[in-house]
Amino acid sequence: MPVPFRQSVRVGAYLARQRLARREKFPLIVELEPLFQCNLACAGCGKIQQPDHVLRQRMSVDQAVGAIEESGAPMVSIAGGEPLIHPEIHEIAGELVKRRKFVYLCTNAILMEKKLDRFRPSPYFAWAVHVDGLRERHDASVEREGVFDKAVSAIHAAKERGFRVTTNTTFFTHDSPQTVQSVLDFLNDELKVDQMMISPAYAYEKAPDQDHFLGVQQTRELFSKAFADGRRRKWRLNHTPLFLDFLEGKVDFQCTAWGIPSYSLFGWQRPCYLMADGYAKTYKELLETTDWDSYGRGRDPRCDNCMAHCGYEPTAVLATTRSMKQSMRAVLSR
Ligand code: SF4
Ligand code: SF4
Repeated sequence: MPVPFRQSVRVGAYLARQRLARREKFPLIVELEPLFQCNLACAGCGKIQQPDHVLRQRMSVDQAVGAIEESGAPMVSIAGGEPLIHPEIHEIAGELVKRRKFVYLCTNAILMEKKLDRFRPSPYFAWAVHVDGLRERHDASVEREGVFDKAVSAIHAAKERGFRVTTNTTFFTHDSPQTVQSVLDFLNDELKVDQMMISPAYAYEKAPDQDHFLGVQQTRELFSKAFADGRRRKWRLNHTPLFLDFLEGKVDFQCTAWGIPSYSLFGWQRPCYLMADGYAKTYKELLETTDWDSYGRGRDPRCDNCMAHCGYEPTAVLATTRSMKQSMRAVLSR
């Protein structure tokens, strides 16, 4: 199943309410990071370099739910670290589902089969499994053999139990149009996951491997070649057509990082989950105390190579809602 009809309608209504209220900045989806600890140590990771005492901390259920309620966002992506290490993660997800938030639980899937029983299939809940490539490529990316097979097995198990299962794939310089195509063909046609998210890797300053992040030109070349011959239309990609146009270099956008803000153990991260220029206590404070015009490509050198969805998917969504033609395109691509 693609994005459930219920989710499209509720998010569409939320966007319409923001427009009617003439609200210029609002959250679309919150990146919730209730811990930084992980059971892997990928070289391209910018989250697990926190000191030990921070890695041991876990966000409480009340704090996580309170932050999402204060923001008003209709969707939540729970990430980390590895969320399934958090002993109360099913309670956080369950409380958000109860409040009719659409929850994506991002996981490397190592613990997923073991913990499936703690979750219930729901139109408000989806797994988002990290799969960076086919077996050899993925295991090299996460620096551990056998993780790809675990992820595939967990995806099958979750689908058998009626869960909605999506995937999240990050591409680096060792990827080619063929590796992009082969992993998306596999996820779409063989594993038959419900939807797939893709992203060029962001060059985290703290990541140990700095040599394999894509620049803007490389990203455009990679995706325009991978998407050629109409392939893009056959994949169930969980992105607006305009964001995919952006990855291909057919359109360019300004960053609107306030649309996909990040809330972690430290608070609301300024300006996005990729960079940390301080923290705010509330989403309202984040909006009011951040100089948003100083971020984005051409404005801040740290943003120069960024084409990440947290900065540019909200811009694509807003551009879609403002155009009848693009809205129709988005509906027909579902
Ligand atoms: S699985 Fe994700 S959080 Fe864990 S080390 Fe790898 S990139 Fe970082
Ligand atoms: S361009 Fe936007 S999303 Fe990317 S790092 Fe800069 S502020 Fe964050």
